[in-house]
Amino acid sequence: MVSRVIPVDAFDLVIFGGTGDLAKRKILPGLYRRFQAGQMTENSRIIGAARADLNEDSFRALVAEAIEEFVPKDRQDSKIVAQFLEKIGYVSIDATGEGGWGKLKDLMRDGVVRAFYFSVAPSLFGDIAERLHLHEIADAQSRIVVEKPFGRDLASAKALNAVLAAHFTEAQIYRIDHYLGKETVQNLMAVRFANILFEPLWKAEYVDHVQITVAETVGVDGRGAYYDKSGAMRDMVQNHMMQLLCLIAMEPPYHFDPDAVRDEKLKVIRALDPVKPEHIVRGQYLAGGGEGSYVEHSEDPSSKTESYIALKVNVSNWRWQGTPFYLRTGKRLRARASEIAITFKQPPHSIFDDAKGWLENVLVIRLQPNEGMNLMVMIKEPGPGGMRLMQVPLDMAFADALGVDAEDVPDAYERLIMDVIRGNQTLFMRGDEVEAAWAWTDPLIEGWEARGDKPQGYDAGSSGPEDALMLMHRDGRRWREIKG
Ligand code: NAP
Repeated sequence: MVSRVIPVDAFDLVIFGGTGDLAKRKILPGLYRRFQAGQMTENSRIIGAARADLNEDSFRALVAEAIEEFVPKDRQDSKIVAQFLEKIGYVSIDATGEGGWGKLKDLMRDGVVRAFYFSVAPSLFGDIAERLHLHEIADAQSRIVVEKPFGRDLASAKALNAVLAAHFTEAQIYRIDHYLGKETVQNLMAVRFANILFEPLWKAEYVDHVQITVAETVGVDGRGAYYDKSGAMRDMVQNHMMQLLCLIAMEPPYHFDPDAVRDEKLKVIRALDPVKPEHIVRGQYLAGGGEGSYVEHSEDPSSKTESYIALKVNVSNWRWQGTPFYLRTGKRLRARASEIAITFKQPPHSIFDDAKGWLENVLVIRLQPNEGMNLMVMIKEPGPGGMRLMQVPLDMAFADALGVDAEDVPDAYERLIMDVIRGNQTLFMRGDEVEAAWAWTDPLIEGWEARGDKPQGYDAGSSGPEDALMLMHRDGRRWREIKG
């Protein structure tokens, strides 16, 4: 089965920071892929904006290079690339100055969706929002897209919300969390709410625990100075992992509608208990495999920033009381792998002698690599050996199930940008959600800072610090193996 591509309305998309890393790696190649798929129509245009003194031709050359570098070779079609480049324009603008805005205004067309992607440092969000308004470039139907990080604590997130709210309504603001754009993450909602099979079991009575893992093999490398002000908690947990947790833990929304979904996610965040210090493990990677240690990259030999964190989190509500959610994320780990694993409880009684303590169903939702789902079920081992049990996966790799090449499953950015044009905010974070997530995060960070806690060293290429293993072992559980 080939998935249907429904073209979106014609648009003018302005990318502030159009020459930056994110635009080159994700946004522009993603738009090319949507154009190639027929979803971005002929009548749509993309306008890069940055301080660099480029003209249309030199910006188009930059876009062509980005496509060449970041789109798989077998998906590059020179004829389609040439057609795509015709849709590209450029304006040299300093977000903090007044030059260039008049030209941008002249380029914008009436009768098409106007969207503005703020792919720049958050410190520029206010300047851009204000000038779009001042120069009457944005109208009441325009949309703005903002990137992470959305604040580094509650106070800064509130300040960012306020500068955006000064010129745009909440319905116009699209806060990107690219994890929400992954096929599997959306499928999580389909699996939960379009099947009767799982939902009756989706509660503390039947779920032993949930594990959410986001493991990376890369270190902080050139981004040491930036990362040192952030750390794994701010960089991964407060946003991406929190969103995943919400999608698993939330109640069914009354309708698949942006605010109905986001209302339910918000309730989950508000139901999170503060995390006890003994349920937090922070780690920092050591040198290994020819790479320096975290502190060597951070430029601060006494840095206490965590490159790894594991947490045991309780969702304090009727559905989840007693089912812990274990979260872990880190850099320089054994493999690049992100997954959610929902481990169901054992049957109340085993009738099979040789299987005591092992009758376990696990629903594994893989975000990367190979997006898909796996349901581990117990079956009889084939053959004449008697009633021996084994665990096997009922595997659903999306690419296989849909009969498409994995390369053709749209990337999260592709999907999210199309949602912006469609005006669908379901997969974007609402301002109050972001603030609630920071309100939960802040005291944890303040707690370890006040205690002067130091992260535990862990070997590069390992599964993380010893204490993280103990966090599980103490509860008679274990982490799933990190496998790429
Ligand atoms: P980057 O490579 O440093 O690019 C920044 C862009 O902003 C450049 O195009 C730069 O062009 C432009 N810019 C800087 N100052 C400007 C000004 N005063 N007026 C107009 N344009 C200005 O950064 P990036 O990695 O693309 O990241 C962009 C945003 O996305 C950041 O908020 C980042 O945190 C976020 N983000 C990035 C990634 C990623 O993978 N890169 C992932 C998630 C989130 P000029 O210097 O020519 O003006």
